[in-house]
Amino acid sequence: MDNFACRLIEWYDHGHRNFPWRETHDPYRIWVSEIMLQQTRAETVVPYYNRFMTRFPTIEALAEAKDDELLKAWEGLGYYSRARNLKKCAILVLRESGGHFPETPDALIKLPGIGPYTAGAIASIAFGCRCSAVDGNVLRVMARVEGIEEDIRRPETVRQIRERTDERLPEENCDRFSNAMMELGACICLPKHPKCGSCPVSDFCTAQKTARQDQLPVRSKLKSQRVEKRDILLLYFGNQVMIVRQNEGLLKGMYSFPNLEGWLSEQEHLEFLHSHGMIGQRLGEREAARHVFSHVIWEMRIYEYRVIRHNGDHENWVDGTKLESLPMATAIKKARLYCLARLNQDASEFPISLLQK
Ligand code: SF4
Repeated sequence: MDNFACRLIEWYDHGHRNFPWRETHDPYRIWVSEIMLQQTRAETVVPYYNRFMTRFPTIEALAEAKDDELLKAWEGLGYYSRARNLKKCAILVLRESGGHFPETPDALIKLPGIGPYTAGAIASIAFGCRCSAVDGNVLRVMARVEGIEEDIRRPETVRQIRERTDERLPEENCDRFSNAMMELGACICLPKHPKCGSCPVSDFCTAQKTARQDQLPVRSKLKSQRVEKRDILLLYFGNQVMIVRQNEGLLKGMYSFPNLEGWLSEQEHLEFLHSHGMIGQRLGEREAARHVFSHVIWEMRIYEYRVIRHNGDHENWVDGTKLESLPMATAIKKARLYCLARLNQDASEFPISLLQK
């Protein structure tokens, strides 16, 4: 075994963080964990993963999941297209191969929601396939080890790093190698202040030898995020509130409250109500909210209206119990808390500290 891989695996075996997905080689469990781990820290994923596995213990259970139930289980993790792709993929794997995942990265990558990293992680960890799994952590480690000065946001650089990582693969134990690389990036080779004194592969590291840890990896700046102003309307009719299901966009499949683009006047809100067959009166404005997506920031103002009359669809009106059971995005968590407080008729006593979480 190459000395680099040998040192890395020995270090990993000597002690690493325990996560439930590291106690299995079941491709279904590895796959779900890897999708959850995209964009989310491992410690944060643990309770979501455990709940998900209790609710959907098999690929069959996931394929049969109702959309609302699936999105509810994903609520809080964000990037909801990941959950929708999970179900699509489960249905496809059941239909095409009786629930058996393909074992190679080339075959895995053809499935919905599976990119080169996830394909490499499933193939190496679940099936012991001799291939690398290059995520953001591994990109950083390898750019430093190999002294790569090209921008790691460029696909050619990612390809180059994947090839260099492949060259470091051991003949066997590729599952431990993949996990060890990710562990090294998450715990030792940190973006700022890497712990080179504790690093098992420091002897191999170009950045360490040339004191360029803080210059590598090279990463170009992302375009600045677009700011969108939005008005969230909490419309109450008796003990019910109006909800809408998002049919497109970032929050497709999730439930929300009427959500208008721009910061509008009271008159414009009332015109919106009127155009949807409602007559209402403003109760007040709540504390504003802000949510940062990957490319967009929502600056939200939250207004409450009492609806006096409506001729709309009854399916759009739900009570507090039903509201709590529906999948809703974290972006409107604050509005939902205000709404539940109002529906429970204790809005005035509702602790502000809870609303600000
Ligand atoms: S020696 Fe330092 S910079 Fe190099 S891989 Fe280890 S932690 Fe990262």
